[in-house]
Order: sequence, then C-alpha cells, then structure tokens
Amino acid sequence: MKNADHKFGTKAIHGGLETDSATGAIMTPIYQTSTYVQEEVGKHKGFEYSRTQNPTRQALEQNLAAIENGKYGACFGSGLAAIDCVIKMLNPGDEVVSTNDLYGGTYRLFTTIFEKYGIKFHFVPMGDADEVAAHVNSNTKLIWVETPTNPMMNIIDIKAIAKVAKRNKAMLAVDNTFATPYLQNPLDLGADIVMHSVTKYLGGHSDVVMGALITKDDKIAEEIYRIQNSSGAVTAPQDSFLVLRGIKTLHVRVQRHCENGEVLAKWLTTHPAVDKVYWPGFETHPNHEVAKSQMRGFGGMISFTLKSGLLTDAQQLVASTELFTLAESLGGVESLIGHPATMTHASIPKEEREKSGVTDTLIRLSVGIEDVADLQTDLEQAFAKL
Ligand SMILES: *Cc1c(COP(=O)(O)O)cnc(C)c1O
Repeated sequence: MKNADHKFGTKAIHGGLETDSATGAIMTPIYQTSTYVQEEVGKHKGFEYSRTQNPTRQALEQNLAAIENGKYGACFGSGLAAIDCVIKMLNPGDEVVSTNDLYGGTYRLFTTIFEKYGIKFHFVPMGDADEVAAHVNSNTKLIWVETPTNPMMNIIDIKAIAKVAKRNKAMLAVDNTFATPYLQNPLDLGADIVMHSVTKYLGGHSDVVMGALITKDDKIAEEIYRIQNSSGAVTAPQDSFLVLRGIKTLHVRVQRHCENGEVLAKWLTTHPAVDKVYWPGFETHPNHEVAKSQMRGFGGMISFTLKSGLLTDAQQLVASTELFTLAESLGGVESLIGHPATMTHASIPKEEREKSGVTDTLIRLSVGIEDVADLQTDLEQAFAKL
C-alpha cells in the first residue's frame, strides 16, 4: 500500500518515515551533529552540513509533507521564519494581497520588515473572493490566506481564492496553523504553499518553537530550499524529534480539542455575561457552509466578547481562571486564555484591530484536552467573580 493511500492517523505515525538504516532504531534518532564525514571530496551520504540537511529534520519534513498531502516540507526556527521565507521569494515592486484579520506577528513582519524592501501589502477582508480579486493586479505575486483567522475565527473559502490566484498567475499560500492538517488540507483545495506555526498544534505540547512550509510544486520547493539554506533560519535536530513525537498523536489530540471546543462554545452562548461567541461550528457563523465543506471539524479555538463592554471585566476574567492559564500561544494539550487586544494583537493599531472585531472585551480560548467539565467549572467560577 502506498503512503498516499493511507488514512490520516496512519500517515501521522508512519508517513514519510523510514527505519534508521544505521541502527534499526524504530524512532528517528536525534542526529545532533553540525557536519558529516566525507569519504573523499564530493563523496558523501547526502548530508554535508546541518544548515543544508539534517537527517532528523529531514524525517520531520517528509512526515509533514505526507500529512499535508504535499511532496516537499521545509522546517524553520519559527512560524515567522517560515513566512519570511515565502516573502523572500518575491522581488521589489511585487504586491501581496493578504487576509486583513491576521496573526499579529505576520502583520508586523509584512509591514515593518518587508515594506521597506519595496514589497506592497494589501490587507483585505476575504469573506468574498470577488473583493479579493478587486485588489489583484499584474504586480500581485502572492495571495496570503489565514483560515480560520486569528482571533475572529473568520473562514475563508480556499478553493474560491485559489481560482483568483490561478487566473492571475499569483501563488496562493495558506497559514494552516489553526486548522491543522487533520482538519484541513489547503494543497488539496488549490493552494501552492501551506505554512504552519509548528509551535502550536503540530508540536502540541508547548515545548518547541518551529515553523514549516509544505508544497507539491517542484519549482517552489527548489526556491524554498534555496532560501532555507541561504538565509539559514533552520530548526534544530532535538526540536525536530520533539515534533515528530508530537505529530504521532495529532489526530487523537485534535479530535478531543474539537469535542471540548464544541461543548464550551455552545455553553458560552448561554452565559448571561457573554455577548458574541466566534466559533466556525455554529450554523449562524457567516461562513459555516464553507467551513463544513473545507474542514473536517471546527477546532478548539473560540473567541467571545462580554456584554459589559468593559476592558476591566475582560482583564479580570482572564486573570481569574485557574485551569485556563493566561498566556500567548495555542494548540497545546493544556487550555490557555488570552486577551488579543493587549497580548497577541497589541502590535496592530487600535483602529485597525477594532475594524476586524478585536475589541477591548474580546477573549480568546485555546481549549485543551483536559476533562471538559473541569474546564467549564473553571470558566463559571471566573465569570462569577465579575
Ligand atoms: C503563532 C502563529 C504564527 C507565528 O508562529 P511562530 O512559531 O510563533 O513564529 C503564525 N500564524 C499563526 C496563525 C500563529 O498562530
């Protein structure tokens, strides 16, 4: 049976991986080495220097390619380093059309690093593909999509945007961090590049910072590897090992994240202190039908606002939970609570952020895989303190 025919759980555990030929070790060894002995000049086993290739990193890259239905994977020192690599494929004068409701660090990278090198970014709402098309011109070389978006849980129709990209010969890259490859495979929907902050669900245990790009296009892969090696923002063997271990349980973890997320999202809508709840699983979510068609579940990320509208209430709530710990990041086995306006999205100007819904009382939950009854009790006691 070929790898590509396997179902997700099998690919997560075995995809792209081979038994270590030197020792038979069942788990990929941590090749903690910077360089490789050459038998004679130019004669080696495919590894010359660990910025360029490392066996542990390569195993992870192949595993990631397998679970995203791609051909090539490339791992970086962080999610932002992976995004940095994509933008470095462009030239001065090129334009990018990007989701407006964007991870704060991505926005900062685009606007404070790359704009000064002559790349122009347009931040547009992507609920409607025609609106995206209106911002595309002959200089547009890349469309950057994040779906579900952070923290508003907007859903963007990847297939529809892929058509806009193809028509204009622009690349389409999708930040698939929130959905994970278990719930959504952008390459199957027409994207050219998938990006992950591996730090989040793929690592899954809040112990690694890493990024990845996956593609099935030979030319794009060649560019990615050239930039990965030339700019040098690679990830380390030990971290690669931890993520290989994390991915083996990705499907099991994400199933539970989804179940717990559904229970809490529904419960939040019934709470008297809560105003809006943002979660793509609701039939009332503006793009629920798109979510249903391109995702296999709705995930464990939820945002909500408070009826009081008071910043102090939001600050009190996030300080009062005990199981939900106050921290940036998401996607680990433990539940986290965050306040985007002052934390993850503090680098986006207030006016810009409120336009996309990130108001002062918006609270974001990364629902973990603890027992959901305990998570609900924790939120109940925190609300009771308001
Ligand atoms: C965290 C995150 C990033 C950045 O990844 P790092 O690993 O923190 O550099 C990019 N996009 C999304 C959606 C994220 O959540």
